[in-house]
Amino acid sequence: MRAHWHLREAHELAREHGVDPALGLDEAEAALRALKHGTNEITGAARRTPVALLLDQFKDFMILVLLGAAVVSGVIGELVDTLAILVIVLLNAVIGFVQAWRADRALAALQQLAAARATVLRSGQRQVVPAARLVPGDIVLLEAGNQVPADLRLIEIAQLKIDESALTGESVTVDKHTGVLAEAASALGDRLNMAFKGTTAAHGRGTGLVVATGMATELGKVAGLLDRAVDLSTPLQKRLAAFGKRLALVVLAICALIFVIGVLRGESPVLMILTAVSLAVAAIPESLPAVVTVLLALGARRMVGQNALVRRLPSVETLGSVSTICSDKTGTLTQNRMQAELVHADGRAWRPGEPLADPVQRETLRAAALCNDAVLGEEGRWFGDPTETALAALAADAGLDKSALEAESPRVAELPFDAVRKRMSTLHPHGTGLLVCTKGAPESVLPLCDSQWRADGAVALDRDAAMAQAETMAAQGLRVLALARREVARADVGADAHVLEQGLALIGLVALIDPPRPEAAAAVHDCLGAGITPVMITGDHPATARAIALRLGIVGDDKAAVLTGQSLAEMDDAALRARCGEVRVYARVDPAQKIRIVQALQSLGRFVAMTGDGVNDAPALRQADIGVAMGRGGTDVAREAASLVLLDDNFATIVAAVREGRRIYDNIRKFVRYAMTGNSGEIWTLFLAPMLGLPIPLLPIHILWVNLVTDGLPGLALAAEPAERGIMRRPPRPPVESLFAGGLWQHVLFIGLLIGGMCLAVQAWALATGHAHWQTMVFTVLTLAQMAHVMAIRSESEPLWRQGLASNRPLLGAVLLTLALQLATIYVPVLQPIFKTEALDLAELGICFAAAAVVYLAAEAEKAWRRGRKERGADMALDTPVSPTRM
Ligand code: ATP
Repeated sequence: MRAHWHLREAHELAREHGVDPALGLDEAEAALRALKHGTNEITGAARRTPVALLLDQFKDFMILVLLGAAVVSGVIGELVDTLAILVIVLLNAVIGFVQAWRADRALAALQQLAAARATVLRSGQRQVVPAARLVPGDIVLLEAGNQVPADLRLIEIAQLKIDESALTGESVTVDKHTGVLAEAASALGDRLNMAFKGTTAAHGRGTGLVVATGMATELGKVAGLLDRAVDLSTPLQKRLAAFGKRLALVVLAICALIFVIGVLRGESPVLMILTAVSLAVAAIPESLPAVVTVLLALGARRMVGQNALVRRLPSVETLGSVSTICSDKTGTLTQNRMQAELVHADGRAWRPGEPLADPVQRETLRAAALCNDAVLGEEGRWFGDPTETALAALAADAGLDKSALEAESPRVAELPFDAVRKRMSTLHPHGTGLLVCTKGAPESVLPLCDSQWRADGAVALDRDAAMAQAETMAAQGLRVLALARREVARADVGADAHVLEQGLALIGLVALIDPPRPEAAAAVHDCLGAGITPVMITGDHPATARAIALRLGIVGDDKAAVLTGQSLAEMDDAALRARCGEVRVYARVDPAQKIRIVQALQSLGRFVAMTGDGVNDAPALRQADIGVAMGRGGTDVAREAASLVLLDDNFATIVAAVREGRRIYDNIRKFVRYAMTGNSGEIWTLFLAPMLGLPIPLLPIHILWVNLVTDGLPGLALAAEPAERGIMRRPPRPPVESLFAGGLWQHVLFIGLLIGGMCLAVQAWALATGHAHWQTMVFTVLTLAQMAHVMAIRSESEPLWRQGLASNRPLLGAVLLTLALQLATIYVPVLQPIFKTEALDLAELGICFAAAAVVYLAAEAEKAWRRGRKERGADMALDTPVSPTRM
């Protein structure tokens, strides 16, 4: 009978699944079924086991070459070399494994956090559980914005519409029903009494019986057919990989040259082959993309600690380029803790706390309580939409008991709120007819009113005066709602909105305050300093929006331009583009218009982050460069479309994530700077020595040791480098800027040349003065110079002494450990034959340290020069605003 659920009656199916649709399964039964059916997951590429991860480390071509070299050394009798190479390869694999494992774990933890949830009925209680824990027989509750968590046979629905495009490619939403379908033939898109995993509820709500989970769902079947090799690499990784390939060719050519010159000069061909191979292995940056993953994954994990959940790894690297943040107002910039401040009814004001004597004011509160979906929880707290809980609380405080009012005048029908209409109405029995209570934005409700309600009969309404009153309250940053009523005949109960919501009598206006989040103003200030434009997009009134924007510092004066949804609708794209450069506040915008704002900003070269929480926000989130969804208040659809989820729905978190994105990108650059300069130093050393008539300065084992072991630890510790001091005082990085921008190339070449030069100078001096330990000295200079270098490049501009040695303890530890290891290779007798080293005396060691110090000073001098240039540049650019461009 499988897959014929649509032909069966829902309650009969529920019986067959052993479940009462009103109660759901109990936990014990659900656990049993989970054992039988497995988790409700589409199993993608299996997680790599630790062993597989470890083996992966040996799959690299260059490592295979090295293993080949080890065998060759063994065959020609150099067993010590063989052993040494093997140990180094092993150590390198361990370092690589630890990196990969940490990255894997960080990513797995993120995936877990981002996992979908579902609302189910278990033992009669509504519960939110991870969607993976659903089992056949579960009763799932769906609401607009939810992702369907499993295949469901619908039992009960209310205007449920489902977007099935993810499964069928059909972009129109489908109206569902619960009846039995007649024919067996129906395609997925025709099974109107089913809801399929992976599709989303676009409207209404519903209840369904889980009939299939995981790979047994229709989505699972499709996924099973697909090639699961998903390309997870980030743009940066791809660029680095492509760059690495080109560089590899250059390095191979240089290695070949070094080999040829060496052999021509009479060196042993075997030694020269090993030297060339070691250099190739060491200097080809094939591990760069992997290191980038580690840095991004660790960064993403850190961001979770700051309440920013990254859903797509590449976003970590692009966050730093954000140049405009478009944010919702309510809940993101404000606390979404509404509180009633003022009621204005029939020309008189009333404030909460004052005695309620006026019948019009009383009727305002009664309507506010009746036309209201908030419910009272056990400890006297109101649950529901904050606007409505504030109104319910206001009525309750004035002595109007919402549940008593509802018992007296139960709701018999409603016209629900939506962000486009900006109002809602409820219908209640009233004498022989019905009472319509309407509440909504003043511009939405007042045009429908033609009188002012009074207890003793309606009087004429001065609509302009009422509108002006609403404006005055809005200009103080208050959210104003208008309440109106009308009596209709019982027969009108199912009538349309345009029939019911007309000829209303205005009762009064209520003004609510939604205070800004305390941290929002500072975050806005940070944005401005960082060359990022904050933009507020809200469904609220223009005057309210402007007042809040002013309080937060988004705009500078109370005359600032506010663009409304209405004027936006009248503008064509070119006109919008001309305006959106300077407009910072958009009001009375409906979510569908957000996408036009994103596009207009992008066409100006802005790199846009955009927040959203509703179903209608998803297209704009997808269009934005960084879509930001709300973790608390948002819908699954918005989260699915976003690349960043704010776990605390807070604007300041976006700014913190941008800062973190900048830090991570900086650290990736630092790693590249460090690793490539080291490689360049070795290449220069080995390449120039024969040109200067010097013997080969380093043995293969030295090259491998420096590169595969001592380099790795400090490089990784760069991930822990804290954000640079001025990180939020510089303009955003253009998204397509090369990783090597800002003189990184020159640094790699010239500091590399300096490292090589120091090695060769020490070698030449030692040879000239008859020091037998010249090779050990070169080996030591190379390691020490790299340690000095890594300390100097911790900041792109600040000197180390101002940063403080202890501000990156992992790096300090790695450098000290490397130093200790290096001294061990020189002074520990059993290691000396392996590394072909000899103990240096104090003077020789001192010279090595001095050579390394030269490298350190040169790197510091370069930073000082860059600082000076920046200050001069800043002087000149003082009046020019930062205008980041997308290149
Ligand atoms: P943001 O986009 O900043 O989150 P918002 O939450 O103010 O804005 P909407 O929820 O779209 O935007 O509300 C738009 C307007 O609709 C509000 O300014 C208010 O006037 C009105 N409104 C909001 N909630 C209700 C409600 N429950 N009943 C009636 N009217 C409402």
